[in-house]
Amino acid sequence: MTLANVTSNSGTHGWVFVIGMPLLCMAEQVEGAILQRDGSTYAVMVRSPAGLVTPELLERVAAIARKYRISTVKITSGQRLDLIGVRREDLDAVFADLGPDAVRRTGPCVRYVRSCPGIRHCKNGTQDSLALALSLEAKYRELPFPAKLKIGISGCPRCCGDSRTRDIGIMGSKSGWTVLFGGNSGTRPRFGDVLATDLTTEEVHDLIARLLEYFRAHAKPKERTSRFMERITLEGLRSDLLILIPYIPLEK
Ligand code: SF4
Repeated sequence: MTLANVTSNSGTHGWVFVIGMPLLCMAEQVEGAILQRDGSTYAVMVRSPAGLVTPELLERVAAIARKYRISTVKITSGQRLDLIGVRREDLDAVFADLGPDAVRRTGPCVRYVRSCPGIRHCKNGTQDSLALALSLEAKYRELPFPAKLKIGISGCPRCCGDSRTRDIGIMGSKSGWTVLFGGNSGTRPRFGDVLATDLTTEEVHDLIARLLEYFRAHAKPKERTSRFMERITLEGLRSDLLILIPYIPLEK
């Protein structure tokens, strides 16, 4: 028998066999931890909603990195802190030390809500992107969906929150919020479709709730919103959403 990868009964271990004998236990999948390229260490994500961190969180993350000799701490494109290089035997302790600040779900779910500084700090800001991001993060954080979802919020049309290329993009203007759906970067990039403009914050919450309900009901497993929109088309979504939320003037 030559080298082969097989799956154990639990489905969570990969084994290398040589002449029928297991030599090495590799790649145990652990919920919330992402196996790294070296095949033995993991990345653990730290929650930092809208990219905001406190001095206390930074001190705790620094202490954990030192305690467990974690080689790399990275800020991700989703504005989260990533502890990279955690050994398997330290994972439980790292999760325990991080407590509720650890991201524990890596499956198809709302991964993050990123935001620019918006009107609170930026001279160009027209809307409070941080407040909207924090409220959406609290509502949808890690909720399961057919595929992973990323949300990007910008306080003005300059779009520093990458709103055009997120599954749900929200951009501020002087007259309210614009909501986009179906954006993606990656190998098949796509700008999100503009669903509505000039919304109040309450209308944004309502539209997103109904949009996500619709996505949950109609998307195929692992179908990202970009491919979902190509399949059902903007016209299809628009006519269904018009029935659901007739009071929101959808963009023509
Ligand atoms: S999107 Fe607008 S408000 Fe946000 S950081 Fe960029 S310029 Fe400022």
